[in-house]
Amino acid sequence: MPAEIACLEVAILGPLPRIFSYALPSITGPLPPGVRLRVPFGKTSRVGILLGYGDCPPDIHLKPIEAVIDTKPLLPEVLQQLLHFGARYYHHPLGDVWSAALPALLRQGRSLPEVAPRVYQLSRSEQLPPRPGSRQMALISLLSAPKPIAEIPTPLRPILQQALKKGWVEARTLPTPQICAQPVPYALNSEQSQAILQLRQNQGFSCWLLDGVTGSGKTEVYFETIRPHLEAGQQVLILVPEIGLTPQLLARCQTRFGSAGVAALHSAQSDTERLRIWTRAATGQLQLLIGTRSTLFVPLPRLACIIIDEEHDPSFKQHQGWHYSARDMAIQRARLEQIPVILGSATPSLESLYNVQQGRYQLLQLRQRATKASLPGITIIPLRRQYLQGGLSSTLLSACRDTLAAGNQVLLFLNRRGYAPAVLCHDCGHVLHCPRCSAALTWHRQQERLRCHHCGHESRWPADCPECHSAALVTAGQGTEQLEEVLCQRFTNTPVWRIDRDALPGREGFARILEQIHQNQPAILVGTQMLAKGHHFPAVTLVGIINTDQGLFSADFRAPERLLQTVLQVAGRAGREDRPGQVLLQTHLPQHPLIQKLASGDYHEAAQLLLQERIQARLPPYTALTLLSAEAHQRPPIERFLKAARYCAPAFLQISGPQPALLEKRAGFERAELWVEAPTRQDMQKALRIWLPLCQKLPEARKVRWSVDVDPQSL
Ligand code: ADP
Ligand code: ZN
Ligand code: ZN
Repeated sequence: MPAEIACLEVAILGPLPRIFSYALPSITGPLPPGVRLRVPFGKTSRVGILLGYGDCPPDIHLKPIEAVIDTKPLLPEVLQQLLHFGARYYHHPLGDVWSAALPALLRQGRSLPEVAPRVYQLSRSEQLPPRPGSRQMALISLLSAPKPIAEIPTPLRPILQQALKKGWVEARTLPTPQICAQPVPYALNSEQSQAILQLRQNQGFSCWLLDGVTGSGKTEVYFETIRPHLEAGQQVLILVPEIGLTPQLLARCQTRFGSAGVAALHSAQSDTERLRIWTRAATGQLQLLIGTRSTLFVPLPRLACIIIDEEHDPSFKQHQGWHYSARDMAIQRARLEQIPVILGSATPSLESLYNVQQGRYQLLQLRQRATKASLPGITIIPLRRQYLQGGLSSTLLSACRDTLAAGNQVLLFLNRRGYAPAVLCHDCGHVLHCPRCSAALTWHRQQERLRCHHCGHESRWPADCPECHSAALVTAGQGTEQLEEVLCQRFTNTPVWRIDRDALPGREGFARILEQIHQNQPAILVGTQMLAKGHHFPAVTLVGIINTDQGLFSADFRAPERLLQTVLQVAGRAGREDRPGQVLLQTHLPQHPLIQKLASGDYHEAAQLLLQERIQARLPPYTALTLLSAEAHQRPPIERFLKAARYCAPAFLQISGPQPALLEKRAGFERAELWVEAPTRQDMQKALRIWLPLCQKLPEARKVRWSVDVDPQSL
């Protein structure tokens, strides 16, 4: 047996299911794991991450790598460990996990930009009299004041290099920006002070649930908890669920801690901008970093604390490719970094409440609103036999009228975009479906388009019914567009602002409308989910929930939890300052136990009810769940694969299916899944490690696209 030879083991960035081996280059010294390499792959070249050294039989011909991109590991060791953990736990290829964690330009092999805060200035040593009009002259006049490299035009940079060598220009490194904290503008209440006191005593890993009603001053608790860290030159990471929330939080953080050391990362920035912020954070120049999901993977060498705001929000779960939960991964990061992590919410997830009960998280509660405003009362409006206008009951309409007359604002919540969620034939009942999905088409009247909200398919309003050729096609149900229309007709002298993804596709539009809302003039706000999150509208005193019942009938077992959270979050927008607020809940099921609990406004009681249901139904958090999904153009290969997979599963897994996915067909693909249940997450992991490699080897697996979703958040 000939001796094995050493080779490089590389995770190529992208969804490739295995690790690749390459020959060692002879020129370089030892390379540390975590550096990027450029490697040949088929006929192309790809960027990969060096994982380490392995052994390879000598008779196998290995290709040498093409280039070493980094001299140092791109991510520090804890983050490398975190990614390895993430790949293992979610059973996803490591190369794709790395890919999801890196900014686009680094993924493509770009080197790190120079972000050291250095400035160039003329040195006091002897000055050469340069030729007038020469580039030297241009550089000298430019450097009459010290300039960073970004402000030196490219043609002058070679001259700058020469000048540095000759000594008539010198570089000076600016000190890292220091946080300068403003004092708290008011006296903290005792609940806030108590929470801060406990949080500040922490050292090492600990996980806290800051459970505070809307407007209870959670942000203030975050700020005062992190202030000593920031003043000591350490770093803090704040994760938020959606980019809509970053500008406001960024503004608040900058007002409090100055703008030099504070920044936000979000998807609306250019790749270059994102890489710059990433690099400034990774080199310790940024101290407070705010961002959505993937910001979790930014290196922060002096990280002292992680905050996850609105921890219950489903947007923390990634739904494509690597199905990770940014909340759970952030907790894992805190564990690896040995630092505290704070989860904040007015409506904590059932998982987190369960973890508090289990003693895994420590609970901090803020029960009063910080501004002394009372929490709004929630009143049920039974809809049975009420005459509805555009989905609005007369009770809600008259409440709107009274609110506007008193000079206040109204917020109406309807979680459906478009004019109507369905179009049907009045003669034969045929519903217009997306040709590629098992879903009805939504009518968008402003754009005059029928649109599928699942695959983006668009078409015009057809001349007649495709089934019976009757021309009597009508819309069914209401979306925000229709609600806006009805309101504009009823309230001719009041502005009606619709806030959803169609009305405000960009961030700027949203910022502009927020500004108008903050003029605090009488107005009606109509919106979806976008309105529910974290906003502060001082003049809103009436909140109306238009279609409460939608969440009670969904096949998704999390729908009631989401309903509860959404209603209380939207309700929390009412009466946040001195004007008391009220919430009206339209429902056909006033006796439903969840509606009853909702009306009491006590999140915890309602959450307990739902937790009881989860125990009885053997659902998370009392069990661990994984979805094995498959899709293909035809049903039979999916059935064959899922049945074969089920057949080779370890006996202690409870499996149901194959069953059609909630959305049976999407973008032309038939979809089905297996529900896999284990008593605990550890049991689940043990089973998946045995089972998934078997699934991979099934010949049926090659005929379908399949994926694994560990701890699925939506079905
Ligand atoms: P939450 O994040 O819990 O919804 P915020 O931190 O946004 O609440 O606080 C709600 C409002 O109350 C903000 O306008 C904030 O400035 C104010 N606030 C916070 N703490 C206090 C306090 N102790 N006294 C007075 N106002 C406060
Ligand atoms: Zn018809
Ligand atoms: Zn579709």
